[in-house]
Amino acid sequence: MSRESSLINVGAKKVSFPVVVSGPSGAGKTSLCQGVVRDCPEVVYSISATTRPPRKGEVDGRDYHFVDTEKFKAMIQAGELLEWAQVHDELYGTPVYSVRPFLSRGQAVIMDLDVQGGLSMKKVFPDGVFVFVVPPSFGVLEKRLRERKTEGEDVLKTRLRNAQEEMRYRKHYDYFVINDDLGKALGEVKSIIEAEKCRMSRLFAGVKDW
Ligand code: 5GP
Repeated sequence: MSRESSLINVGAKKVSFPVVVSGPSGAGKTSLCQGVVRDCPEVVYSISATTRPPRKGEVDGRDYHFVDTEKFKAMIQAGELLEWAQVHDELYGTPVYSVRPFLSRGQAVIMDLDVQGGLSMKKVFPDGVFVFVVPPSFGVLEKRLRERKTEGEDVLKTRLRNAQEEMRYRKHYDYFVINDDLGKALGEVKSIIEAEKCRMSRLFAGVKDW
C-alpha cells in the first residue's frame, strides 16, 4: 500500500475510546455527560449499575441499572463489571456491556465515575481520556448540593467531606475542567473529545509504514 492510500484509509478510520469524567459530587458531571451525548451523536453514555435507590425522575436502564446488593455481588462474581467501587455507602460499577460493544463499533463512550473508578478504569484502558471536573469553589459545591435537594443532611455532609478527599486525585487525570458556567465547561469537554480523535497514536495505531 502506498503511503498516500494508507493515509486516506487512516482518515476514514473511526477512533473509539472511553472518556472518564470524575470530580466531586455536585461538580456537574451528570449535566456535562448528558450535554456531550446530546450534542455528539457518536458518543454514547455508559450506564452504570448501582445499589443506590432511584431519585425522583430517574429511570431504570436510562440513568442507571438499579439493582439490589445481591444482584450487584453476582455481577462482580460473574466478571460483568469493568470496575466497581463503594461510593457514599452505596455500590456503583461499570458493566462490560455498557462499554465494550460501543467501543467495538467505533464509538466513544463517556462515563461518570468516582475517583476510585477512574483509577481502576485507567488500568483497563490506559489510552482512555480522563477528565477531572470541579466546581469553582467548595462554597458553590455546597450551594449546588443543597439546591439539588436530592439528599438528606447526613448524605449531603458525607458528600461534602468526600469532595475534599476526591480533589486529591486530580493529578491522575489528563484534563482539568472548572465548571463555573455549564455551557463553557461543556464546550471544553467537547473540544477535548474532538482533539483526542485527532491524536496521532489513535489514528495510526497498528498502521505500518506511515
Ligand atoms: P450519584 O449517586 O450522585 O448518581 O453518583 C455518586 C457517585 O458515584 C458519583 O461520583 C459518580 O461519579 C459515581 N459513579 C456513578 N457510576 C459509577 C460507576 O459505575 N463506577 C464508579 N466507580 N463510580 C460511579
